Amino acid sequence: MKSISFDIAAVILLVILLGSYFLRKMTKGISNSIVIGITVIYIIAACFDIAAVTLDNRHSTDLSALYTAHAGYLFTHFLGAPLHLAYVISLTDTWHLLKKKKWMQVLLILPFPVMIGLFVMNAGNYLIFSVENGYTRGPWFGFLYMATLYYVAFDIAYLVKYRKLFTFVKMLSISTVIPLSVAAMVVQMLHPKLIIEMFCGAVGLMIVSTGIQRAEDYIDTFTQCMKMSAYVYDMKRTLSIGKHVRTIMINLGNFQSVQAMVGFDAGMEVLRKVADKLQDIDKKMRGHADLYYLDNGRFRIVFTESHFQKVEGIAEAMNAALKEPIDMNGQSVNLMPFVVLAYYPDEFKTFRALMAFGADFHQRNPYTGKVLLASDIFDKTQLNIRNNIDRIIDRALANNSFEVYYQPIYAVSEGRFISAEALLRLNDPEYGFISPEALIVAAEQNGAIHKIGEYVFEKVCQFIASEEFRNLQLDYIEVNLSMAQIMHSDLPEKYLAIMDKYHVTSEQINLEITETAAAYEQEVMMQNLDRLTQAGINFSLDDYGTGYSNMSRMIHLPLKIIKLDKSFVSEENTKKVWIFLKNTVKMLKDMDMEIVVEGVETQEMLDAFSDLQCDFIQGYFFSKPIPQKEFVAFISRANKA
Ligand code: C2E
Ligand code: MG
Ligand code: MG
Repeated sequence: MKSISFDIAAVILLVILLGSYFLRKMTKGISNSIVIGITVIYIIAACFDIAAVTLDNRHSTDLSALYTAHAGYLFTHFLGAPLHLAYVISLTDTWHLLKKKKWMQVLLILPFPVMIGLFVMNAGNYLIFSVENGYTRGPWFGFLYMATLYYVAFDIAYLVKYRKLFTFVKMLSISTVIPLSVAAMVVQMLHPKLIIEMFCGAVGLMIVSTGIQRAEDYIDTFTQCMKMSAYVYDMKRTLSIGKHVRTIMINLGNFQSVQAMVGFDAGMEVLRKVADKLQDIDKKMRGHADLYYLDNGRFRIVFTESHFQKVEGIAEAMNAALKEPIDMNGQSVNLMPFVVLAYYPDEFKTFRALMAFGADFHQRNPYTGKVLLASDIFDKTQLNIRNNIDRIIDRALANNSFEVYYQPIYAVSEGRFISAEALLRLNDPEYGFISPEALIVAAEQNGAIHKIGEYVFEKVCQFIASEEFRNLQLDYIEVNLSMAQIMHSDLPEKYLAIMDKYHVTSEQINLEITETAAAYEQEVMMQNLDRLTQAGINFSLDDYGTGYSNMSRMIHLPLKIIKLDKSFVSEENTKKVWIFLKNTVKMLKDMDMEIVVEGVETQEMLDAFSDLQCDFIQGYFFSKPIPQKEFVAFISRANKA
């Protein structure tokens, strides 16, 4: 007697699973459809199996019923392996690659005609099984298992080839299915009375559904769109498998103020309504897009190649729909949707470039109310630089092509140049001059900032140690520190070691930190400042007046010099601005700090700020930042005069 208990358990488990897919809204997308397909096929297979075993146990003589039950079970059961492979392929999202490889398609389909042939011929010559004298296996029965193993081999090949696309847990969940079903097959072969294959299949599906198809990982509960994490994962995968997508990027420019106006809950309701509108339009216009909600009113709608021709129309429709006011309990809310079409990876070669662009295009461009192309609002060379910044920085470090320029700083009371600011320069062989701001931001993101910072510092120390420098009779050189550097605990030891190497004293160095960095309450930063101050190094606060300074924090930082930002140096300054400047200078002096004015370009401004009793002046009026050689010549000449 064979027992059907495992099969019944399998059916119960599978029906519960199937219900859970719908309750958890895991019905969209190919991989979800395939999982649903497998579950349904397994339920059918288990039911055929229950029928077949029951008939066998009763020694039924109804040959056609027996035949149908066994054939139905064997065939649906065989479908499990190719469906599992289809699932793995859809997880890697490589269907488009398969489309191009005819021979692969042939290989994958091959067992099907053989199988169908065998089932057809089985009716006459019992190649697979017969039911004449009870159920017995035929000489070709093993082929069923061979076909299964054939697909398992492809499964393994895919998982190995695309292993980088899976996290450890995902890899584990998807690959345990393979040993599980192979083990079940072996047990079944050895003990034909123990009917456990379907039960093992159900358990395998459950592992997949809890380990991989986890809605909570992907779905944003407010908007029902996919989450930022899914976007990051999908976009990185798109790049790594060489797929091309078009994306409608929607940033609601005024979302923050809308939320401040209507409150948090209603703000989320607005987002939900926006998501509904987008979803509706995509459905109506059959874009079959993936919708993501990132954060702060940013939506992404991603299209695959077969729907490219609809993207522009859909973008227009979405833009029009979002411009209509949304009714929130009688209050009408107007949104400011910035809608941009971007091609990826055609326009954005790296995921980082895509994210950097998407973060703030609505802040960098005026609101036009029109659908824009990413390439239109993004300067091509800037885009290329952003796309290739890693390579540009690596190349510059390898070829030693970073340069340090110096801009003289003039002491008003002494009537001579007493110092200079070291500024980074890069002339890239491919892109030409690249602004230090762009470089520093990119270098902070990819971590190269530490190497670049040390490079600049070493060049400066080398210069200070030189004979030429001694003759110039300058007091010190100012060197910029970026945010990322100040937050790094290695900074003091590295910098002090470099100074040691060139016998540079602490009075010869002044480090500039920016106002934004100074506003951070951060332990490592404070330790770094303390350590360097103890070593005798002075600090300047750069770009004073541009960031949001936290006055109480600033007062407690060990600052010797404040650099007034160049935005204060203007012929158009109103009377109020001058009053503000006069009092700022007085306040800083009372606090025993020295003042540098940056960006002085004219005699008028020089006079104005000298009258205010500012200590030092830096700007194009005296000199632009210039290469070391020119700088030496410039100062020598000026000192003589
Ligand atoms: P910053 O430290 O405020 O440097 C002053 C900037 O003002 C320099 O721009 C300088 O060329 C410019 N400038 C000086 N005088 C005038 C003037 O009269 N008129 C005008 N319009 N501009 C003037 P630059 O060299 O493009 O550097 C931009 C920023 O890049 C710097 O601002 C600094 O924040 C950063 N940076 C430059 N070199 C380095 C470096 O080695 N390390 C770090 N971390 N940042 C650097
Ligand atoms: Mg500076
Ligand atoms: Mg500055």
